[in-house]
Amino acid sequence: MDPKTLLDPLGLDALYITRPENVRYLSGFPHPEDAQALVTQEGAFLLTDPRYPEAGRESRIPAKVLRREEKEEVFRGLKGRVGFEAEHLPYAALERLRELAPAEWVPTKGVIERLRLKKTPEEVERIRAAQALAEEALAHALGLLKPGVAEREVALEIEFFLRKRGAGVAFPPIVASGERGALPHAGASEKPLGRGELVTLDLGARVEGYHSDMTRTVALGQVNGELKRAFFAVLEALEKALEALGPGKSAKEVDALARKALERHGLDRYFVHSLGHGVGLAVHEGPALSPYSEDTLEPGMVVTVEPGVYLPGVGGVRIEELVLITATGIELLSRSPRDWQEV
Ligand code: ZN
Ligand code: ZN
Repeated sequence: MDPKTLLDPLGLDALYITRPENVRYLSGFPHPEDAQALVTQEGAFLLTDPRYPEAGRESRIPAKVLRREEKEEVFRGLKGRVGFEAEHLPYAALERLRELAPAEWVPTKGVIERLRLKKTPEEVERIRAAQALAEEALAHALGLLKPGVAEREVALEIEFFLRKRGAGVAFPPIVASGERGALPHAGASEKPLGRGELVTLDLGARVEGYHSDMTRTVALGQVNGELKRAFFAVLEALEKALEALGPGKSAKEVDALARKALERHGLDRYFVHSLGHGVGLAVHEGPALSPYSEDTLEPGMVVTVEPGVYLPGVGGVRIEELVLITATGIELLSRSPRDWQEV
């Protein structure tokens, strides 16, 4: 990256990056929670501390391994307009920087996040690798579903499975059964799975900092009535959205199509979150597929499509696919069967 193409349009002399995902994006450094990046007119470099003596080898940009006083010296040398990430720099840290540096500290938002919207082929490969592991973890988890097994046991098995293969979890897996399926972010509880319940499994893996994200809802034994109808309504909403998805499409319009499909079944008011989100170095990033989104989809974006219906006191359904926007349409990265399944 040429620092001038980043800094000049913003009228900045330097940009101080503190959001870990953004530090990793610029440097590839695998411990971005303990590092920052500084982009100046001369180039970008990584700042970290002596706990990471290997930083020079692990970072794509030059790394400075500095003790606290040495780091403060770097800031003392800054002049002109220096941008910082307003959403990712604690106020106390900003006050300290103002004491140290005779610069004008300028708040910025979303500068590196905008660069992260479209993935390079290397980034897509990592997401693909994470997704492939998540598919295996899901198959493993589906084999464990039976009445009496606690949701938490299934979630732990998913986590153990991924860690054994050297991956991380993108987020604590969600296993929500029966009435708990009505909570979109249910986590996994002590509740034992019961026959005749729907079980929602939402899981992702993490490979070299990149995430995957996918949800399946399956029936434990026979499930009929309104939950089964809700399942097919959600499936229809998902398929309508997938058909419409592609480069040049407005994210807001795709979200609206899914809501329309649910409306035909009288279920749109039970779809309480956005249709999808970008996935990459963060599990939730841009673009947003929501009624409020101004984003247009472009080749290289990786997004989820995840309609859901949550019936309070009854249960819920969510089906989530992971999709790459290509030059001509989409490529489905999630491959596990999404149809009605009784396990
Ligand atoms: Zn998910
Ligand atoms: Zn998601």
